Amino acid sequence: MIKFVNSVQDLHACLLRWQQNGHRIGLVPTMGGLHEGHLSLLSLAKAHCDKVVTTIYVNPTQFSATEDFGSYPRNLSDDLQTLSNKNACDLVYCPQQMYLDNHATQIVSSGVALRLEADSRPHFFNGVATIILKLFNQIKPDVAIFGEKDYQQLMVIKQLVRDLDLQVEIIAGHIQREKDGLAMSTRNSYLSDNERKTASNIYRILQKTARNLQENQSVSEAINAGILELNSVGINNIDYFSINDPNTLEPIAKFNSDARMLIALYVGTTRLIDNIAVPFLSESRIHS
Ligand code: AMP
Repeated sequence: MIKFVNSVQDLHACLLRWQQNGHRIGLVPTMGGLHEGHLSLLSLAKAHCDKVVTTIYVNPTQFSATEDFGSYPRNLSDDLQTLSNKNACDLVYCPQQMYLDNHATQIVSSGVALRLEADSRPHFFNGVATIILKLFNQIKPDVAIFGEKDYQQLMVIKQLVRDLDLQVEIIAGHIQREKDGLAMSTRNSYLSDNERKTASNIYRILQKTARNLQENQSVSEAINAGILELNSVGINNIDYFSINDPNTLEPIAKFNSDARMLIALYVGTTRLIDNIAVPFLSESRIHS
């Protein structure tokens, strides 16, 4: 039976027993609207831990006033049903109150939190880092699992753990995709049927751009060709399409080592993000 709590007191009562028994506790933070991407992180947590906690909380501080905090999909009863059908975790924590009325402290992230998402959403990573630190403090997990779907967020969390000496191991989960390649996302439910078809081009174009790079196109040529192809399928509103160092997230001018390709764009009014690894292949491997 999955336990459900929504106060920090009930959370602690449940965790205390597990901690006293020496259980290794894994955490998967989510905002709900659960899909196979979230469930894959929970499976990973189960494989690494004795007890798995998932949180469902739409964190207001990572949304700006013009973003979709009010309309973000909230289906708590569906989510609880999904978790229980799959026996996906041991405890679900849906905090009723995360921030006191006079809450006045925020983590300010720099380094890998600069550029990319931060250029369009300057509030975002400070909100994410603050809520994740609060969840780490409340739950004290041994392990926390984050998806590569939000690659920059994953790097921000790793940086937070390193910089603040947090005693938690961060494990990354691969991106789960629909059959046509679209990265699973709660926000995909915003797409109309036509937009959904358009969105299926994103992964194809990422892969093609990666191949172009691996076949010796320059970074700017590959990105420009990718943008033209996105335009040709009706995607014109692109926040970024960038090839970056996979660890520092510095943009790279020349492709001569493994890289990460990251993209954020709008299909209609829905903002989608995706990314893929771009391994650097030696000359002999490309032409063999
Ligand atoms: P969210 O509920 O969107 O805040 O996401 C919660 C966690 O699930 C984050 O660590 C995300 O990176 C991860 N996640 C979201 N979509 C996917 C996906 N398609 N594949 C794997 N992980 C995902």
